[in-house]
Amino acid sequence: MLNFKYIAWTSIAIFIILLICEPILYVSFWWYMLLFSVFFWLVLIGSFSMSWKLFLKGFTSKTNIQTKKIAITFDDGPNPKYTPIVLQLLKDYEAKASFFCIGRQVEKNPEILKLIYDESHDIGNHSYTHSNTIDFKSTEGWLEELKHTDQAIFKVIGEKPTLFRPPFGVTTPHLAKAIKVTGHQVIGWNIRPFDMAIKYREVILKRILKQVKPGSIVLLHDKHEHIEFVLEQLLQFLKKQNYEMVTINELINET
Ligand SMILES: [Zn+2]
Repeated sequence: MLNFKYIAWTSIAIFIILLICEPILYVSFWWYMLLFSVFFWLVLIGSFSMSWKLFLKGFTSKTNIQTKKIAITFDDGPNPKYTPIVLQLLKDYEAKASFFCIGRQVEKNPEILKLIYDESHDIGNHSYTHSNTIDFKSTEGWLEELKHTDQAIFKVIGEKPTLFRPPFGVTTPHLAKAIKVTGHQVIGWNIRPFDMAIKYREVILKRILKQVKPGSIVLLHDKHEHIEFVLEQLLQFLKKQNYEMVTINELINET
């Protein structure tokens, strides 16, 4: 797996070799530009791809799993309109799931968080603000985001979450340093249907169904009107296929 230190040191080594060889091989400026471009794009793409594990080790699926277990996850709640609908569907289909909650939303909707907890679903930290510029935060800024949300959740359920999902799935060196301090387990996904961006709910559903396999983690959002249709159809399909819908913690601990 690619690692940021490995990429950085390899780039530095190639840079030094280019410098040494310059007088003998007439290395042009464009070789340096090429090296910089490759480094830049690898780091940029790696920041958006948690499965590369560039800055930190995130759990994105369970490989080599012997049972038909799958983890459905919901980001950006708790939401007063859609989270109760999701909870009812999960109950109807005897499914467990995981909710990655935004601290601000927790403070606005503590009673919904309590409902999630009472139904024995996993609750994870998904930052406090989830702002569009969150990925530019310093380590201290990230620590504030993480701790503030942990406290908001603790106030309602009396437990601090051990799981964390980065907003937008982006990881940075500053976030990695903050996670080293807080000790959260970072959770990604391997099925992303873009339920917040795609207009047609049937398309969203199809994108999930064609990727489903044991050990998968599905990313959904409990804050959009499509969630009721998509989740119900997905649960029906999984039931028919004899899947067990489990929490992230259960999937992690599966042998
Ligand atoms: Zn989010």
